[in-house]
Amino acid sequence: MTGMLKEDSLKGKTIIVTGGGTGLGKSMGKYFLELGANLVITSRKLEVLEKSAEELEKETGGKVLPVACDIRKYDEVLNVIKESESRFGQIHGVLNNAAGNFISPTERLSHRAFDIVVDIVLRGTYNFTLANGKNWIDKKQAGTFLNIVTTYAWTGSGYVVPSACAKAGVLALTRSLAAEWAKYNIRSNAIAPGPFPTEGAWKRLFPGEVAEQIDPLKRIPLKRFGEHQELANLAAYLMSDYSSYVNGEVVTIDGGEWINGAGEFNGLEAVPQDMWDQLEKMRSKK
Ligand code: NAP
Repeated sequence: MTGMLKEDSLKGKTIIVTGGGTGLGKSMGKYFLELGANLVITSRKLEVLEKSAEELEKETGGKVLPVACDIRKYDEVLNVIKESESRFGQIHGVLNNAAGNFISPTERLSHRAFDIVVDIVLRGTYNFTLANGKNWIDKKQAGTFLNIVTTYAWTGSGYVVPSACAKAGVLALTRSLAAEWAKYNIRSNAIAPGPFPTEGAWKRLFPGEVAEQIDPLKRIPLKRFGEHQELANLAAYLMSDYSSYVNGEVVTIDGGEWINGAGEFNGLEAVPQDMWDQLEKMRSKK
């Protein structure tokens, strides 16, 4: 899989990626750099960010600013904006990608565990959105928000209930501000990815024997996981001016996984060919 957009599609733009030192955030950030953007990556662990920044600069020749920030803390979010502007001048896009999640029956969760996930995913996203939105509005600058949600943001899902609640909130935030802040030239869109292998997600969501019990591949009609570049292509498009009329949209990229789970008769995929032959014969006898 190769990059989709024309060279320099993001040239002159500065994009902040929360959770940009690892996993999908790092892959999307890398492609933004390849397309000419300046990148700000942020998360709690400065050592991880600095190592990734060095790696990304070496691989792409672009400029990366690592800034430590716990997205749950508004002051730290304001500091990311300050540091980004003092290094690159203006911020053009924010990719709200950082998240926390783990699997558990809901009745086993403490209220604190619930708080932690909702605080990272929902509070973290609205902190970044509010702080950047106010900044852009004050300075009369256009801006683009791109929020990473999940397909269960609209269906809900057991065993990841705090995450489902928080991602549903992020989806509501995306659509609400697409309407309210369009007058300031601020667009808001979201991506709902299906399974894309990352160390973080696999460790927390499919640990050990769980992966054997529920093979996520079996649920995906395309019978494979997503490639990071496939997601990066979509993210870069939604960040770029090529998508300047796309606002309030949520694009699912999951190989058909969630729609497969929703269709009442999709389980008939398991019926073998000879059984279909018999059923056809029975029908033609009537
Ligand atoms: P990941 O590598 O674990 O990324 C999560 C990032 O969030 C980490 O860099 C982490 O860095 C950061 N983070 C966590 N808490 C934070 C906090 N309080 N403040 C700042 N940063 C924080 O996982 P991933 O798989 O790439 O996931 C990225 C996004 O994709 C998430 O929004 C996830 O919900 C979504 N997603 C992933 C998949 C998938 O299959 N991978 C599927 C659907 C949706 P620190 O620990 O250093 O803070």
